[in-house]
Amino acid sequence: MIEDKNADNQYTPLENIGEFGLIERIAKATARGLDTTVKGIGDDAAVIDHSDLQTVVTTDCLVENVHFDFTYTPLKHLGYKSIAVNISDLAAMGAKPTSVLVSIAASNRMSVEALEEIYSGMQLACERYNVEIVGGDTTSSLSGLMISITALGTVEKDKAIYREGAQPHELIVVTGDLGAAYAGLQVLEREKAVFKDNPHLQPDLSEYEYLLQRLLKPEARVDILPMLEDLELRPTAMLDISDGLSSELLHLCKASGLGCKIFEDKLPVDPAVFKVCEEMQLNATTAAINGGEDYELLMTLPLYAHEKIKGNPHFTVIGHMTQENDPPLLVTNTGEMLPLKAQGWNSFQ
Ligand code: ADP
Ligand code: MG
Repeated sequence: MIEDKNADNQYTPLENIGEFGLIERIAKATARGLDTTVKGIGDDAAVIDHSDLQTVVTTDCLVENVHFDFTYTPLKHLGYKSIAVNISDLAAMGAKPTSVLVSIAASNRMSVEALEEIYSGMQLACERYNVEIVGGDTTSSLSGLMISITALGTVEKDKAIYREGAQPHELIVVTGDLGAAYAGLQVLEREKAVFKDNPHLQPDLSEYEYLLQRLLKPEARVDILPMLEDLELRPTAMLDISDGLSSELLHLCKASGLGCKIFEDKLPVDPAVFKVCEEMQLNATTAAINGGEDYELLMTLPLYAHEKIKGNPHFTVIGHMTQENDPPLLVTNTGEMLPLKAQGWNSFQ
């Protein structure tokens, strides 16, 4: 797709092929022929076959310079991430993803090749998560790029997992580790400032690879639900960590009508996060609880789950639910109890 430059090896302005030309190219590049797709791109609407399953649907909007910055966001990664974050929302509902719709508003200055590079990242994610792009909308923008993704998935009747449903004393469990995406963002912001002062310096970011990958190419934890099924466990409440652990825990507590206690010394934090936090004089616990964009899952499980997940590297018990009217608390390493606050990512700040 990308080698499709014209004779002078120039990039093709969007206006050369027009909206319909672009959609035609997208349709060709993204068709996968999944069984769930009865009608994909090319009609007024798509038709999806979910047989007798319930449909779960979610949507997310990504705006240039609000959610991503082209200075350090590779186009392909942007495409991949835009799909992955929606799949993460479906995983957090206990749903199996099937299809996505992609709407883009692009300025005329954007080349066809750049858009196709974004779509090639989307396509990679579609293959990884076994979903298909079945439609979307294409329009122009006077200020930067906007990508809006809608993702559909299925659950068996009444098997969706909500934010409500946690019971007093239940275990609070997170998957993977926390704070790495935030640490990666701090590294890139620092390098961007250096680059502005001296555009000839090429930063060596190899030692930050894990953090950058967590920020730029997050994966949705579609592997967790089957793992829990194998262990014969079912979360009583679940959500994905997009805005930061603290903010998501407050959602869970509010929806379930309970308080909670989590412990600083139990938070799963990668050594690379500690290293960057030390370099940049940041607090690793703050990165872990307020950082956001980790796309791990936060869930509550019954007490008997403890034996089953003990020693499993994918799951960490970070605390437990408390009673109705109790506050959501963080117990620090020195035994202090701090109220959890929603300091998560807020695009209106
Ligand atoms: P309409 O005028 O009915 O909105 P469009 O010309 O916008 O139709 O879209 C034609 C077809 O192409 C539809 O199937 C639509 O879902 C699909 N489509 C349009 N834009 C995109 C896009 N950016 N990505 C994927 N599919 C798209
Ligand atoms: Mg349209």
